[in-house]
Amino acid sequence: MTQNAQSNRLRYVIVGAGMAGMLAGIKLLQRGVTNFAIYEKADRIGGTWRENTYPGLTCDVPSHSYTYSFEPYPDWTCLMPSGAEIQEYFEKVRVKYGLDDYLHFKKEITTCEYVEGKWCIQTACGHKDYADIVIAATGVLHHPRIPEIEGMDSFNGAIFHSARWDHSVPPDGRRIAVIGTGSTGVQIVSALSKIAAQLTHFQRTPQWIMPVENRPFTNEEKAAFHSDPEILKRMQNDPELEANIERFSAAITDPESDAMKQIDELVLNNLEQSVKDPELREKLRPDYKPACKRLIYSPDFYEAVQRPNVEVVVEGVDRIEPEGIRSCDGQLHEFDVIVLATGFRADMFVRPAQVKGRGGVSLDDVWGDSPQAYMAIMIPDFPNFFMLNGPGGPVGNFSLIEIAEHQWNYVEQLIRLVEGGDCREVCVTSEAFEQFERDRIAAAKHTIFATGCDSWYLDARGIPATWPWTRQRFKQEMAAPKPEALELN
Ligand code: NAP
Repeated sequence: MTQNAQSNRLRYVIVGAGMAGMLAGIKLLQRGVTNFAIYEKADRIGGTWRENTYPGLTCDVPSHSYTYSFEPYPDWTCLMPSGAEIQEYFEKVRVKYGLDDYLHFKKEITTCEYVEGKWCIQTACGHKDYADIVIAATGVLHHPRIPEIEGMDSFNGAIFHSARWDHSVPPDGRRIAVIGTGSTGVQIVSALSKIAAQLTHFQRTPQWIMPVENRPFTNEEKAAFHSDPEILKRMQNDPELEANIERFSAAITDPESDAMKQIDELVLNNLEQSVKDPELREKLRPDYKPACKRLIYSPDFYEAVQRPNVEVVVEGVDRIEPEGIRSCDGQLHEFDVIVLATGFRADMFVRPAQVKGRGGVSLDDVWGDSPQAYMAIMIPDFPNFFMLNGPGGPVGNFSLIEIAEHQWNYVEQLIRLVEGGDCREVCVTSEAFEQFERDRIAAAKHTIFATGCDSWYLDARGIPATWPWTRQRFKQEMAAPKPEALELN
């Protein structure tokens, strides 16, 4: 049999049509594999860029690095593109690579069970599929964390989560509250401070802010990106940016490193020099190490919170009343709109889909509230089930596209074993999975994420749930699976 015939003998199901699911589809097609389906719960591709449409949404990874390596994009308008521009990029990629024939929208996978050597997949609307190989590309941050605040239902105005933006509510000239100071809250405050009549930022924990420039590309630059593929490639693989990423990677794995001291200095100077009012400066000063929470890059947050129509409230949210928010000091702040920029549940991954592996073992039982996966990809007893951007991956301040591409390289080598007839099923051994997790936890406890702040990086046990080693090590691990870690049947 030819390679194509061997590959198409197998059926592949991809869960999710975001950046990683699209990547998997494209990579299969590039190898001549056509016997696959991409199931998506929503009505469009795009994942996080489809779901988040809040004012000010931008990517803090430079545009030319936030592209598939095989699909550079000369049309980026600026260094850090808006969410809408990124969504447009993915839509163009969808068309160019002919993914429409494989996309199934409004088909949320509810169960995925391994029965007699096949994955039986069922969607909420009753559709069934049977796959040899499942790629779970469901993303990390897609289940909004709605805080439990007393009186939330009593509010007379509009109230919504940042990832469920209500565009029927015009923010111009309104009195708006933003609860939350993560990357999202910071971007929303920066954008709305320019148009709201009054904007109140409820900050439970201050954040360190890394200054960054976001400038539009000039017409000359854009013309050069179009006319010279080498220039575009250089933008994609900018050596200066590469060096910065390496320094950042070194810093988060070694909080005492010189690289981390440089970050400390940059964010401290930014606070000291940008915020004039000493009282406001102290409100904004974190008491934990920079990058312990995901580091926020912003060109204009400090400028935004110093505008006369902006107030930062640190007294805490006591309850919500029909007219607004009562802070813990007893003061009532009146609003027309309340935005919950309160983050996401980072422990869900492919769930709430019920995934059951060999012998009916369920992912919920294996994971509980602390999901884990060998190399962020595989779980024992879940054969031929591979995750892209699964638990324990390098999720902080890196281009997740690059991460997913490395993971795909690894997954593809596993898939080839099945396609080539070396085995019917492949998964990680229990020993390798457990040893990996022990090593990962031991290393995670020495990362910057474990230096005493709370963040979505921490699992329910308070242990960082991220890749704890350098980016270089991740790339090395992804280059080739270790045969001794694999169980082939
Ligand atoms: P987040 O980082 O988890 O931040 C949530 C914020 O809400 C925190 O400030 C948290 O305060 C606050 N909060 C939660 N519950 C609260 C409550 N009951 N009362 C008051 N405050 C409450 O979430 P996010 O900002 O949505 O960002 C999540 C991740 O999305 C980012 O870290 C990043 O990975 C990604 N993202 C990326 C970009 C980008 O440009 N690439 C942009 C946006 C988001 P505490 O700190 O006190 O818990």
